[in-house]
Amino acid sequence: MAESESRNAVYSEAMQWYENNWDPNCSLGDWWKLLAESGWAFPSWPTGFGGRGLKGKEAKAAKEAQRDAEAYGPPNGVATFLVAPTLMHYGTPEQQQRYMPGIVSGRDTWCQLFSEPGSGSDMAGLATKAERDGDEWIITGQKVWNSGAQFAKYGILIARTDPHLPKHKGITYFLIDMQQEGVEVRPLREMTGVAAFNEVFLSEARVSETDRLGDLGEGWRVAMTTLSHERDPENPGMGDTPAFGEVDLALPVHEHAAIQANKVDGFSLALSGGVSKILNEIIVETGKEENPIIRQELMGLLAMRRNSKWSGQRAVASVKAGGQPGPEVSTLKLLSSEMGRQIRDIGLNALGAEGMLTGSHASHNGLFHAYSMFTPAMSIAGGTDEVQKNIIGERVLGLPREPGEQQQRETNWSELPHS
Ligand SMILES: Cc1cc2nc3c(=O)[nH]c(=O)nc-3n(C[C@H](O)[C@H](O)[C@H](O)COP(=O)(O)OP(=O)(O)OC[C@H]3O[C@@H](n4cnc5c(N)ncnc54)[C@H](O)[C@@H]3O)c2cc1C
Repeated sequence: MAESESRNAVYSEAMQWYENNWDPNCSLGDWWKLLAESGWAFPSWPTGFGGRGLKGKEAKAAKEAQRDAEAYGPPNGVATFLVAPTLMHYGTPEQQQRYMPGIVSGRDTWCQLFSEPGSGSDMAGLATKAERDGDEWIITGQKVWNSGAQFAKYGILIARTDPHLPKHKGITYFLIDMQQEGVEVRPLREMTGVAAFNEVFLSEARVSETDRLGDLGEGWRVAMTTLSHERDPENPGMGDTPAFGEVDLALPVHEHAAIQANKVDGFSLALSGGVSKILNEIIVETGKEENPIIRQELMGLLAMRRNSKWSGQRAVASVKAGGQPGPEVSTLKLLSSEMGRQIRDIGLNALGAEGMLTGSHASHNGLFHAYSMFTPAMSIAGGTDEVQKNIIGERVLGLPREPGEQQQRETNWSELPHS
C-alpha cells in the first residue's frame, strides 16, 4: 500500500473508532482506560501498552483523527513521556506488566527524582545513597525540583550504590513507591505563583530489588535514556492534555476538561504547544497583524520552526539508527527553549502594557502572562541551555571535553570534593 493510502486508512479507522466511542459524559478514568485498550491512546507504542505499533505518518494520522474528532486526549506527564519509554526499553516483562497499565490509563502518576541540591547539571555527582538490605534497598538523601511529586504514586529515582567507583559508574536506577514512610514531599512555590515542583526527603525509604530498573551500576545509562526522551519535543508520550496536577478520575470528561481549561498553568501550556494558537489570537485581538516589528519577529520564529524541523529529521534518523533518541535531540531542546522566549517576546510586544497584567483582567485570563513567567524554566528543566551546548559540542560535533573532566570521570566518587 502506498504511504498516503496507509496513512488515510489509519485516519479513517481511528475516526470511525472515535465516532463510535467518544463520549464526553464518560468518566475520565473509563475514557482513558478505553482509549488505552483500543491502542489509540499512544498509537506508536506497542500493542498491549496503549498503542498499535504504528510508525511515523500513520501514528500522526491517528493523533490527527483524535483532534479532528475533538476527543479528549490520553493522560500526559512524567509517567507517559519519561517513565513509559524508559520502562519499555529497560524494564523486565514483569516490571512492564506491573506498571504500564497504570501509566497508559492515567491511574498512576509518577515523578522524576534525579536532581539534588548539590548536583543538577552535574547529575552524576549525586549523593543520595542506596544500600542493599536483603531483597530491598534502603534509600537516604535529598532530591529537589521534582515536578508533580506531591501527587505522585511512584517515582523514578537514581541513587549511588557504590561510592568507591567513578561517579558515572556507581549509580543505579530504581522505581520507588512515593506513598511510604520515609518519603517526605515539600512543595516549592515558583514565581508563576504555582507550586509545580518540590523538595523530596528520603529517610531510609525502601525499594524492592525487583524494582531496580536496568543492571546494578548502570543507572547513568538508563537515566540518559530518560533524559533523551525529556529533551525530545517529538516524544509521543508528550500529549496535549494538562501534564501536572491532581486529577479526579471519577469526574465526567467534560467536567474535568472544563476545570483544566480554566486553570492558569504556564507549565502545561508550554508542554502542550498550545501557545501558538494563543499568540495568533493575541496578534489579531490587538490588531497587530500588519505591524512590521511583530511581522519581523514572527519571521524569526518561523525560521526557528523550520530549523527545528530540520534538526528533528536528524534526531529522528538517530532514533531509527539507535532505537533511542541520540544526543542530537539537544539541538531540539535548545531550539524549543529559544522559541519559547521568542513567542513570549512577540506576545508581550503585541500586548504592550497589558502584558504586565495577571488574573481575570489580563489577556486570556492571565494564561499568556503565566506562560511568559514560565519561559525561563524552559531553559533549565531537562538540562540547561549551556549543558545542551556542551552535549552538542562534545557528543555531536566531537569537540574536546571540558578541561579536567576526564580526570573527574576516572576518580572514585568518594575521593571527589562535594558541595
Ligand atoms: C520547571 C522545572 C522542572 C523541573 N523538574 C524536575 C523534575 O521533575 N525532576 C528532577 O529531577 N529535576 C527537575 N528539574 C531540575 C532541572 O533538571 C535542574 O534545575 C537542571 O538540571 C539544572 O540544575 P541546577 O538547577 O542544579 O543548576 P546548576 O547545575 O547549579 O547550574 C547553574 C548554572 O550553571 C550553569 N552550568 C552548570 N554546569 C555547567 C557546565 N558544565 N558548563 C556550562 N555551564 C554550566 C548552568 O547552565 C546554570 O546556568 C526541574 C527544573 C525546572 C526549572
